[in-house]
Amino acid sequence: MNVADVDDITARLALHGGVPVDSPDEADLVLVNTCTVRQKAEDKAMSFFGNLKHVGNGGTGTLARGGSAAIGPTSVSLVEPVIASPFATGEGARATAKAKPFIVAMGCVVPKARGYIAEKFPHVDMLVNYSDPDIVLAELIDRFPPLAGRTIEDSFPPMLHGDRALPSFVTAIRGCNHRCSFCVVPWSRGPQRDVPLETIVAQALEYQKAGAPDITVLGQSIMAYGKASGPEHPDFTDLMTALLEQTDFRWISYLTSLACDMTDRVCEQVLANPRITPLLHLPVQSGSDKVLEEMRRQYDTDQYRRMVAKARRERPDLYLTTDLLVGFPTETDEDFEQTMAFAEEIGFDDAFMFAYSPRPGTHSVRTYPDRLSREQKIARLSKLIAAQRAQSAERSKRYLGQELEVIIEQSSGEGIVARTAFNKPVHLAAARTPVGQFARARITGVRVSAFLGEEVGT
Ligand code: SF4
Repeated sequence: MNVADVDDITARLALHGGVPVDSPDEADLVLVNTCTVRQKAEDKAMSFFGNLKHVGNGGTGTLARGGSAAIGPTSVSLVEPVIASPFATGEGARATAKAKPFIVAMGCVVPKARGYIAEKFPHVDMLVNYSDPDIVLAELIDRFPPLAGRTIEDSFPPMLHGDRALPSFVTAIRGCNHRCSFCVVPWSRGPQRDVPLETIVAQALEYQKAGAPDITVLGQSIMAYGKASGPEHPDFTDLMTALLEQTDFRWISYLTSLACDMTDRVCEQVLANPRITPLLHLPVQSGSDKVLEEMRRQYDTDQYRRMVAKARRERPDLYLTTDLLVGFPTETDEDFEQTMAFAEEIGFDDAFMFAYSPRPGTHSVRTYPDRLSREQKIARLSKLIAAQRAQSAERSKRYLGQELEVIIEQSSGEGIVARTAFNKPVHLAAARTPVGQFARARITGVRVSAFLGEEVGT
């Protein structure tokens, strides 16, 4: 969502003469989108603000992200907690030394650390509690002089990545109406707002026109699409049906799903369609019904189990991933063992696993003392990671010898990287197919997080 938010803002600013640039040293406007879902992400945001101090003041402004000093919308990654969008207005883009850019801190670190950021990083000009593009742009119009008096469109051509092989994201839902007890999103992003179906289709068509090979439709709980807009509004199945009928994408993906919003109709009419990719990311968080209730997840393990079984019946090639959160304040040893057992029973292909860290303002912080020590949480997390890695490696073996459709994503002296429809990298020694095009690859080796393969055709 963070990537999509920055793309959305950048695309709308581009309508007013803005030009994305490669370095904050060239920029008039730098947007730093922050995330407080994990403590590590928050720490990274603070370090990022510190580095911005030298930008435009004669320093180099080097901002290392993911091993690269180049930052911008084309180099972001979904796992990066901090996204910067250096932005030069058309007439203001400078070739020579320039004044400091206007720096915006946005996103959910801001409400928590507003005073700290203001005191420690006075070079940050504007703080916005949200990353919602509508809110950020409304404040920018008031505060950033080149935009004074402008009207920012809410219908716009999407921000096209220079590298067409990267996934293209279309936001379908902003905010979230769920109230998971450990999560800050409902407060940092606000309640659920459904983007009109016609806008989503129009944006998808823009990507298609620009040559994007596939799209991913985004929402915090994407299968709840339409629920915030009344019974007459199109739902998730209607949305995906419209995209299938009105676009030619060979692959259409969706993120993220919640078991309580998943229905038999979704499985039968959406997941079963071969142009919908087999990736189902369905965070379960815990295998203990007691903890799920305290997390306010609105499903139990039975419902989760039933939806996975249904999805696998409709889609035998389903690639199932999840999120697992260990060390929730009420989690006992027995609850944790239930999570271990449930993960093994369901057979996740991959999982994002985290230890609980209290997020200020959340229900869980107010209700449950964080009674587990860091060591206890790390011990549980390590045990879960080891088991899941072994399971992922074992499950990956079913692909050995299979021919999979892939998109060639990157080609360099070190080799070629493609991605499967379920977003797993495939390392190829060689490929005749150009970057951004579909090819077929035979899987010759499996690793936990990637495949080895050889191109066998297009
Ligand atoms: S579904 Fe729950 S965890 Fe996901 S964003 Fe909404 S409140 Fe947070």
